[in-house]
Amino acid sequence: MEVDLLIFGGGIAGLWTLLRARQAGYQALLLENRALGGVQSIASQGIIHGGTKYALGGSVTPSTRAIGDMPGIWREALAGRGDINLSRVRLLSGHQYLWSSGSLTSSLASLFASKLMQSRVAPLARDQHPPPFDVSGFRGRLYRLEEPVLDTASLMQALADQARPWCCLYDADSMAIRNDNVVIGKLAISPRRVLLAAGKGNAALMEGWAMAAPQMQLRPLHMVMARGKLPPVHAHCLGASANPRLTITSYPLEGGESVWYLGGELAETGVTREPAAQIAQARAELDRLLPWMDFKSLQWATLPIDRAEVATPGGKRPDDCYLGGAGTVMVAWPTKLAFAPRLADRVLERLAQEGVQASEQETPPLDLPAPPLAPLPWEHAKWS
Ligand SMILES: Cc1cc2nc3c(=O)[nH]c(=O)nc-3n(C[C@H](O)[C@H](O)[C@H](O)COP(=O)(O)OP(=O)(O)OC[C@H]3O[C@@H](n4cnc5c(N)ncnc54)[C@H](O)[C@@H]3O)c2cc1C
Repeated sequence: MEVDLLIFGGGIAGLWTLLRARQAGYQALLLENRALGGVQSIASQGIIHGGTKYALGGSVTPSTRAIGDMPGIWREALAGRGDINLSRVRLLSGHQYLWSSGSLTSSLASLFASKLMQSRVAPLARDQHPPPFDVSGFRGRLYRLEEPVLDTASLMQALADQARPWCCLYDADSMAIRNDNVVIGKLAISPRRVLLAAGKGNAALMEGWAMAAPQMQLRPLHMVMARGKLPPVHAHCLGASANPRLTITSYPLEGGESVWYLGGELAETGVTREPAAQIAQARAELDRLLPWMDFKSLQWATLPIDRAEVATPGGKRPDDCYLGGAGTVMVAWPTKLAFAPRLADRVLERLAQEGVQASEQETPPLDLPAPPLAPLPWEHAKWS
């Protein structure tokens, strides 16, 4: 069977690119070995970054610039006017907050006051504070950040619903590469181009094609989940470093409870802690940062998870999404969920540059089952 583009991996990168490639007329198929929705994508905090987080060191960085257009592109998609229709995706919040427990460093204060940041970050007067920052016990500063937060389950569901006819579940261990053909059992697929968009799974797939480059890096996180009667909060706490000290996103559950999903420095520095120690650290941090709230009657769980990216000097976060590879095999890591539209555009540009034209012949469906949808982290967490 011949296809124009064979994509490995059904996270945000693979699904978004599949849909864009089909729109461009390419005969594109996607192979997933576990579940649509990905590993990182479904477990992400769903924040469509506009770059403010990357300016918290007090200056605009290349990351801030690269990602600046993303909230606008996503808002169009959410309104049903973008390249991909996301009108059925649930918006958990149209914006987030930034809070500091004291006054801002002078470099951050002048950055926030600068023209570039004025449309992105707005200081809030006391009478505009939402819960839980609307109490006299809160003595810090609060800013509103114009970056949306999405429900990743409904995002991945919306993409999977549109992509399902071209997505197949396969057993990666049963696959062989013979003369650039992908052989799965009795099925031989002859792709004109391959896109490896399998997140952490790209390393094993590259071995199959005997590719030594690009190199992958893993940056681990140890996320914490707290469940109970909690108000909706989507906010970053500013710390002493350029990274948020704590990032809280929240997800409503049935029965009036919510999950607070905790990332930021807590998750970055907690990778070597056992789950119980990481939970103790999270509780202590919440008690310190929101001392007027009561966190005693909550249930807790953690999620250790790797971020898979192209390797950078010093293992730092790449500034942008990445598309590399050689010959007929492309390798991609979006770096951020927010970068998926930009990555898909790059794949289409590369196909056009390399003169890959859409086949006129429709590829028949593969004789493989449809992949299930990945669950949210709190749907399979062990609560204590
Ligand atoms: C805890 C956490 C929070 C984050 N929060 C944010 C955020 O708020 N905003 C943001 O912009 N970014 C965020 N990110 C980053 C973002 O989630 C990732 O950059 C993005 O989801 C990666 O997408 P992906 O499609 O490359 O990978 P994944 O979502 O990991 O998908 C890869 C897919 O490939 C499949 N696969 C693996 N091996 C194979 C194989 N051999 N064959 C076929 N398929 C295979 C996997 O099963 C999976 O479905 C976060 C990341 C983490 C871990």
